[in-house]
Amino acid sequence: MRSINETVDIVIAGGGTAGHIASIQAARAGVSTSVIEAGTMLGGTMTAGGVYMPNHFFSTKGPVVQGIPWELYTKTKEMEGLDIPDYRQRRPVESPGYYSYINIPIYAAVAEEEALQAGVILHYHEFIADIKAVGNYWEITSFGRGIRRITKAKEIIDCTGDADVVRLLELDVLKSKVSQPGALQYKIEGIEYEQVWKEEVQTIYEEAMNNGTLEKGDFAYANMEPFKYYLDHGGHNATHIYEANTYDADGQTRANIEGRARMLRMYNFVRKSIPGGERAVLKMMAPYALARETFHALGEYVIEKDDFFKATDFDDKVCNAFNYVDMHSQEIGCEVEYLESADLLPKVPFSALIPKGSRRITVAGRNVSANRVAFAGIRAQCTCMAMGQAMGAAAALAVQRGVASREISSRDIVALTVEHGAVPV
Ligand SMILES: Cc1cc2nc3c(=O)[nH]c(=O)nc-3n(C[C@H](O)[C@H](O)[C@H](O)COP(=O)(O)OP(=O)(O)OC[C@H]3O[C@@H](n4cnc5c(N)ncnc54)[C@H](O)[C@@H]3O)c2cc1C
Repeated sequence: MRSINETVDIVIAGGGTAGHIASIQAARAGVSTSVIEAGTMLGGTMTAGGVYMPNHFFSTKGPVVQGIPWELYTKTKEMEGLDIPDYRQRRPVESPGYYSYINIPIYAAVAEEEALQAGVILHYHEFIADIKAVGNYWEITSFGRGIRRITKAKEIIDCTGDADVVRLLELDVLKSKVSQPGALQYKIEGIEYEQVWKEEVQTIYEEAMNNGTLEKGDFAYANMEPFKYYLDHGGHNATHIYEANTYDADGQTRANIEGRARMLRMYNFVRKSIPGGERAVLKMMAPYALARETFHALGEYVIEKDDFFKATDFDDKVCNAFNYVDMHSQEIGCEVEYLESADLLPKVPFSALIPKGSRRITVAGRNVSANRVAFAGIRAQCTCMAMGQAMGAAAALAVQRGVASREISSRDIVALTVEHGAVPV
């Protein structure tokens, strides 16, 4: 095993939804930045995980997340030769979301190109296994195949989704007794829709549930939508994995195995029992199962349900958090709750991104400090990316000023993100 020493200003732990944006922001602000990413590409859940739906660049009133996330999104669309959808026309009546989809391979490659161009050092296939404070520096140990890397850095941003760094530092974390179910993304194609009758397939689905051919969670939205919805979406984003404790390798292994078993069960059912499904093919499967909710940081502030639904105007706000709350559960399936008025625009305060009692570490993305209901609204991809941009800016300013990130004012953080295209908050 090779031992490698590296010194940078900022380490981004996890180059996922929040992390890749944090890295580009920090590097563009002029500080040396590395990403240590356990997976194979940038984007995390958005790319490798197969959830290619950063839905909320716009509210119904106007832009809420722009900056580096929007830049990467529009570059991807341009590369595909596709128009940018007009948010005023595309909004489905029943949902305030702006439904935007990315092409996964193009987005992952564009994000990587932009990161490298900004000077970000990328380490894929490497996971952070240890961290300790040495004077005013972090010493971060990561392992990859044949590599043990010790990185010296002034600041670290935990973007691992499961608060890995926060937990390694034994700082306090939040975790619900029962977490929202996870999912494995896959896509069934080749269904001959002209043969599919909504009422008939609903009866066939209900019989399969009654006689044990299918199990609860194989189609997660059964409380909201008819089975035809599942077929129309080729099953994508429609399976639940209960207790998907993907924060360690054992939990991830169990979730992967369960997700694939659910996928095969459903595929067999569609082929054997659904008229028009005889020639269905399994077209895509994400390499690993995802969690919606595991560990997240206990921050200096915990965002409460009312903060989200009443859109608290925090003094230390750093970005918008426009979304609705979608709460998934084993008992019910999926429940959705919208903000009361289109004029309400929830925010994320800086203090919810600083682990309690810590210095020189911030978090972004799913690691945000929020109670269960607020968390279900804030974890949306655009908000995760916006938090990433804000924390990339905070860490860069801290390094440049020779102070800890928690000492940077939210106003300065926002001002730097706005210089890089973000929406003022
Ligand atoms: C099934 C499902 C459907 C969803 N649907 C939507 C939707 O339609 N719209 C929407 O806006 N949001 C949706 N979400 C929510 C959203 O996708 C996530 O909350 C968000 O992508 C999380 O971003 P993140 O940056 O916190 O984590 P991730 O994107 O998961 O990134 C974390 C990264 O850290 C890496 N990592 C972890 N541990 C380590 C370590 N120790 N060392 C190095 N690297 C590490 C991982 O490999 C990963 O790349 C959905 C989520 C799920 C699970």
